[in-house]
Amino acid sequence: MDAENLIVVGSGPAGVSAARAYREAGGAGPVRLLTADPDPPYERPPLSKEFLRGEAELSPLDSLDGHDVTVTLDDPVTELGEGLVRTAGGAEHRFTTCVLATGAEPVRPGIPGAGHPDVRTLRSAADSRELRAAAAGVRSAIVVGAGFIGCEAAISLSRLGLQVTVVCTGDVPQERRLGHEAGGFLLRWLKSEGVSVLRGTKLLSVEGGHRVRTDLVPVLDAGLVVLATGVRPRIELAEAAGLAVEQGRIRTDEHLRTSRADVLAAGDVALAHNPAAGRALAVEHWGEGLAMGEVAGRTAAGEDATWDEVPGFWSVLGDRVLKYAAWGDGFDHARPFPRDDGGFTVWYERDGRVAGVLTHEADDDYERGRELIRRGAAVTASPAS
Ligand SMILES: Cc1cc2nc3c(=O)[nH]c(=O)nc-3n(C[C@H](O)[C@H](O)[C@H](O)COP(=O)(O)OP(=O)(O)OC[C@H]3O[C@@H](n4cnc5c(N)ncnc54)[C@H](O)[C@@H]3O)c2cc1C
Repeated sequence: MDAENLIVVGSGPAGVSAARAYREAGGAGPVRLLTADPDPPYERPPLSKEFLRGEAELSPLDSLDGHDVTVTLDDPVTELGEGLVRTAGGAEHRFTTCVLATGAEPVRPGIPGAGHPDVRTLRSAADSRELRAAAAGVRSAIVVGAGFIGCEAAISLSRLGLQVTVVCTGDVPQERRLGHEAGGFLLRWLKSEGVSVLRGTKLLSVEGGHRVRTDLVPVLDAGLVVLATGVRPRIELAEAAGLAVEQGRIRTDEHLRTSRADVLAAGDVALAHNPAAGRALAVEHWGEGLAMGEVAGRTAAGEDATWDEVPGFWSVLGDRVLKYAAWGDGFDHARPFPRDDGGFTVWYERDGRVAGVLTHEADDDYERGRELIRRGAAVTASPAS
């Protein structure tokens, strides 16, 4: 039998947190973190915000110094075998436990021209650096997609002096995810930052990397096209190894164990059971990457750790901060409560229970909301009261 050791695949929050937690829980033997990324572990949220605008350096992710973890950069794992991984560089590493934390990658829509090399996407530090360099040479940009990354990038590009147009399929940004009222706030914020928004508009094709055709405005021409059209979890290794996959993610239990006893999964790539929710959740948030990674690391070290948090994230749109906590898989009603000082709270209900809360300058509601969601509190006359 091999001596105990851990291999972690991926250097995002889930991977780094797993390696750190394994050590802090007393996990023995060598720990090796393998990543495709050429940059040492860093914080991803600033890539669409201050790092994209050139206002800040890349912020290193909490260091693994002192944790006796060997980090290998720029060498993607290409195969997950029985008790071993192989990398593109030809290395082979045996493991007794492996954590897959391979995250997600941007999806380019299946329309003509979306794969053109000048058409940008945004996931890694390298993508953000390239986008900033490209923005320096042009006067206008089209951002396709009005999710958080699209909205944040649009505001950053506008602040860099570009004329920015966002192509948004809904009537307002993120209407399906956050509801009409919340989307209305996002729309006003984008406009106040000088960003134009084409609402109810579908992208048909991209020509020459710089021109887009939509169903509403036939041709839009810009120096730069950025696709912020969602992500796809990187499940290739897990699929090829025969791990259980559901909804395009690696299925795990609440301890982050996959269908194979020696392999765990955490972060964007996982569809993990959350006992507080009573179901499996797909979550794409920084904080959840850290939290799930910690549970995976502790589980790998033999502790009885469970992922049962209410998922939450913050988005920074220019100078405005939005905080959102929710199970994230749908709601029946959204009830907005504007505050006199410009802040607001939107409460989300599902099957008569509090299922989510979105706040701007209303931290009291955010904290209370997390607790109500966790408890599965029944909706009373007004959770805002
Ligand atoms: C621009 C941007 C801004 C964001 N802003 C926010 C925000 O404000 N708030 C928030 O909550 N969330 C934000 N997010 C989302 C958040 O960053 C992700 O949810 C989080 O990074 C997921 O962590 P992860 O560890 O699961 O995956 P990732 O961070 O994607 O890390 C995956 C790692 O796996 C590596 N990898 C992939 N395949 C292989 C392989 N085969 N072999 C080796 N390594 C591999 C990758 O190189 C990478 O290091 C943002 C995301 C982006 C892109």
